[in-house]
Amino acid sequence: MPDELLERLRRFQTDAFPLQRSLFKHLVDEGQHPLTLFIGCSDSRLVPYLLTGAGPGELFLVRNVGAFIPPYDQSQGFHGTAAAIEFAVLNLQVRRIIVCGHTHCGAIRALYGDVPAAAQNLARWLDLGREAALPVAEPGPEVLRRTEQRAIVLQLERLMDYPMVRHQVDAGRITLHGWHYVIEDGEIHVFDVDRGRFVPAAEADNAGTGPYQRFTDADELDYSGVPLMPGDD
Ligand SMILES: [Zn+2]
Repeated sequence: MPDELLERLRRFQTDAFPLQRSLFKHLVDEGQHPLTLFIGCSDSRLVPYLLTGAGPGELFLVRNVGAFIPPYDQSQGFHGTAAAIEFAVLNLQVRRIIVCGHTHCGAIRALYGDVPAAAQNLARWLDLGREAALPVAEPGPEVLRRTEQRAIVLQLERLMDYPMVRHQVDAGRITLHGWHYVIEDGEIHVFDVDRGRFVPAAEADNAGTGPYQRFTDADELDYSGVPLMPGDD
C-alpha cells in the first residue's frame, strides 16, 4: 500500500521547499522574529496561514481545543498554552496577540453536552469556556454562535491577567485581537471593544480589539527583517 503521507513529505522537499529555500535560510540564520502570537482552536478547518496570508516565520502558533487560555496563576507549570504566551511576550516580543475561535466549534458544542468518561483532561479543559455558555439545554445555531463569541471575549479577559501581557498592552506595545472565523463565509468577525460586538472584517475599521495601534509596513519590515517574497533577500 502506498504511504500517502510519505509521498507528501517527499513532494514538499522536492517541489515546495526549493521555492522558499532562501526564506528558510534567512529564518535559520537570523532566527525567528514573528510579530504575531496566534492562539487558535485546533479545528482542522481553521487554517491561520491561509486566513492571514502569512508565510514562514510570521506566526507564533498555539492551537488547542476551543482556543482557550488557562488562568495565569493556576496553571502549575505544566501548561503549554500558558508557557507559549509567556515565551511569545517575553522572549519573542510579539506585537499582537490573536485569539481565534470559529463557527461550528466542537469545544463550544461540548459545553452543552457530556464528554466521554475517559476524557478527564478534556472535561477539565472545557471548564475554561463554561462561563461563556448560555442557560439553555438544547442550543440552536444562534446560541452556539453567541457562545463561541462570548468564549473569545472571555479568553481575552483571561489573557489580560497575564502580567507581562497587561504590561505590554498598557504600554501600547501589544494589541489584542478577538476573532471569530465564520468557516462557511471565509470571513473573520473582529471583536470591537468600543461597539461591544463582533464586526465582519468587511465592515471593521481595523483588525484589533483594542487598544489598537496601526503598524506601518515600514515598522513591520524593520522589526522582522524577513524578506516578503522568496528569494527577496
Ligand atoms: Zn473549535
